[in-house]
Amino acid sequence: MLIRKYLYIMATLLASTMSCSGSANKASSEQTAASESTTVTPGIKFNADSAYAFVQRQCDFGPRVPNTQAHRDCALYLESELRRNGADVTVQKASLKAFDGTMLQSFNIIGEFYPEKKERVLLLAHWDTRPWADRDEDESKHKEPVMGANDGGSGVGVLLEMARLLRTNEPNVGIDILFLDSEDWGSYSVDDSWALGAQYWANNPHREGYVKPRYGILLDMVGDIDAVFSKEYFSSRYAGGIVDKVWATAQHLGYSRFVNREGGAITDDHLQINQMGIPCIDIIDMRENSSTGFFPMWHTTGDTMERIDRTSLEAVGQTLTTLFLEKK
Ligand SMILES: [Zn+2]
Repeated sequence: MLIRKYLYIMATLLASTMSCSGSANKASSEQTAASESTTVTPGIKFNADSAYAFVQRQCDFGPRVPNTQAHRDCALYLESELRRNGADVTVQKASLKAFDGTMLQSFNIIGEFYPEKKERVLLLAHWDTRPWADRDEDESKHKEPVMGANDGGSGVGVLLEMARLLRTNEPNVGIDILFLDSEDWGSYSVDDSWALGAQYWANNPHREGYVKPRYGILLDMVGDIDAVFSKEYFSSRYAGGIVDKVWATAQHLGYSRFVNREGGAITDDHLQINQMGIPCIDIIDMRENSSTGFFPMWHTTGDTMERIDRTSLEAVGQTLTTLFLEKK
């Protein structure tokens, strides 16, 4: 994904303008809520060890770069995991043209859980990894693929654990889990070169008669040891109510990684989903004090299991579990 620097500045300006024009009370009450958050015992426990093992399992295939054997093997694995846990699974195959002309043999994999439920929510993550570690400090490594333990693997790991929980716990809404392909074969100078799988899915329903879910939640880079989740700009703009609901749940559970701060604007899969009419937020780790705007190992050969932390996976996974699996 790509950070939009100019929009980041706009979002920051907007936030400061808003707090000068009547929203100051809201901001300060949110801060109070965060500082008073208590740790509550969840009714259904998200298993972070299991989520961690699902991230490891993906890395065991190697980098999941489109057109490689590791990528094809991992696609089969993801499909079988969703099926094993009781979902109606569709694999949407497409040959997608990357900015450099490469045709990417892509697989969007979707599992529909409890298909009889009319009211539905979409949970999604990209599962491919970047072919080039072109943000590595060591220039000689720029042509090596990224392992993508965090960038790709972490979001999918959390959702695979959600899938495992869905097998035995009936959710309060129907859940569609969508693993999108070909997100990360992009050019930093071409906005729409990213999220090719999402672009395809947004324009081509994976099956006839698919009814759009009420809203979506995208997970991206949710596993780094120092992960911080601020409120991404497009998420607030398209689906502010969902952002508030998710952040309030996380803070109620005591997860201080979810902060009440406006984040930058990110070109990520959720933008496509929003543009097709499904309000969608992005839970994504953004850093104010990093030169790229993301975690330090972003698009480097250092995006490996060493920095994946169970507490980050748990903060996101338990929040979703509490939202959708605990009876209201
Ligand atoms: Zn990436």
